[in-house]
Amino acid sequence: MEFETVIGLEIHLELQTRSKLFCSCSTAFGREPNTSCCPVCLGLPGSLPVLNRKAVELAIIAALSLQSEIQKESRFDRKNYYYPDLPKAYQISQYDRPLALGGFIEMKNEGVKRKINLERIHIEEDPGKLMHSGESIFDSDYSLVDYNRAGIPLLEIVTKPDLRSGREARLFLEELRCILLYSGSSDCRMEQGSLRCDANISLRPAGSKTLGTRTEVKNMNSFRAVEMALDYEAGRQAAILSAGGSIIQQTCHWDEGDRKAIPLRGKEGSSDYRYFPEPDLLPLILKSDYIETLAASLPELPSQRRIRLMEEYGLDPADAAILTENRSLGDLFEVAAGEYKDYRNLARWVRGDLLYLLKGNDRNPSEVAPSLLIELLTMLDEGEINRPVAKDLLANIVKNGTNPRELVQQKGLGRIADREKLQPVVEKVLAENKDAVDSIKQGRKKAFAFLVGKVMAATAGRADPEKVQKLLRELIN
Ligand SMILES: [Zn+2]
Repeated sequence: MEFETVIGLEIHLELQTRSKLFCSCSTAFGREPNTSCCPVCLGLPGSLPVLNRKAVELAIIAALSLQSEIQKESRFDRKNYYYPDLPKAYQISQYDRPLALGGFIEMKNEGVKRKINLERIHIEEDPGKLMHSGESIFDSDYSLVDYNRAGIPLLEIVTKPDLRSGREARLFLEELRCILLYSGSSDCRMEQGSLRCDANISLRPAGSKTLGTRTEVKNMNSFRAVEMALDYEAGRQAAILSAGGSIIQQTCHWDEGDRKAIPLRGKEGSSDYRYFPEPDLLPLILKSDYIETLAASLPELPSQRRIRLMEEYGLDPADAAILTENRSLGDLFEVAAGEYKDYRNLARWVRGDLLYLLKGNDRNPSEVAPSLLIELLTMLDEGEINRPVAKDLLANIVKNGTNPRELVQQKGLGRIADREKLQPVVEKVLAENKDAVDSIKQGRKKAFAFLVGKVMAATAGRADPEKVQKLLRELIN
């Protein structure tokens, strides 16, 4: 039987505030365990939460950038459960009155336009963090708990079950991250846990509208893991259903090492959590003009920029996509494009060699001076240097911020076009490669390219290739 995979995601993002959601403890990553805690985030008797205004602001900005509708009134609730990482034995979250409803992300999957709808967006606090003594939760004798994370503001984004494969889930997350990085609401570092994702996945016969029994997949720690885990789980469910079995509603833990989703426990329903209104916090009432002010402050979003880059600079979709993916790379391109008018050439260098060098040297595009890039490309266009030399100069710009013109003068890297300088080199190459000269005389063209290469190598890539070819022809004949 043909099955259709149905996936919905629950994404948790840490909002980029300096203090926690209900107290003034620091949110800095990587501190000594249990040094950023106070009576409020440890849930000690008599402590009272105070809502962080900045967290609300960032949550609204994120929700607006996802086209979600901000609710004028939302409320906080207690989600009750006991777990060692939750000192209060309840988590302050939003239940039936979330911050925002609806919203969507538009994206392309293999050229097909897809609109993935959002169910809701709400604010909640992060629990603490458990560190297991063994490799995983299964083979640990004991676990330690760090409450530094307890109370960090989180945004939970719930999608509708609109995703159809592991790959599509991954593409969605990539686009989501791109949008949220542009909006400045979260740094979205999956490896530091500031972006986390759980998935609900079920299968149904192709063409059917009813949803099948779903499982929840947790512990996916990278976008790649999301794709692999969901494809794995879809395959597992398909095998069971094809054999006439039925799916048990449960939570699975993705094991990166074994590349398997391991059933962990029966999946709880929302009634298990005994939600009730948080008595220590007032409803969150937002005024229209406040929301409008934040909406007006939103930066251009990636989808808008992608289109503008194509329209304004005539870039093709692939170039525009790469330059948009990283906001500061796009900024570098646009600043340089203010003075350097061969936009496509500029785009090719920025998304190609420059991006490669930035990644390899762990540098940010904002560290590159656009003026140096313009200088370099102008020298190349005017024939002052050759391409291989330009690549070396670009590496020097990225690593040391060196001015390419000065380096060319200092080290004599300019193009060699003088006949007096080139002729002795060409003569020497001809003398050393008599066999190649003979093959050329017999009409083999490959040997000619070989000799050009030899001359280029002998001049460290600096010879003017056209002059070299002309001289070679002359001297061979
Ligand atoms: Zn605290």
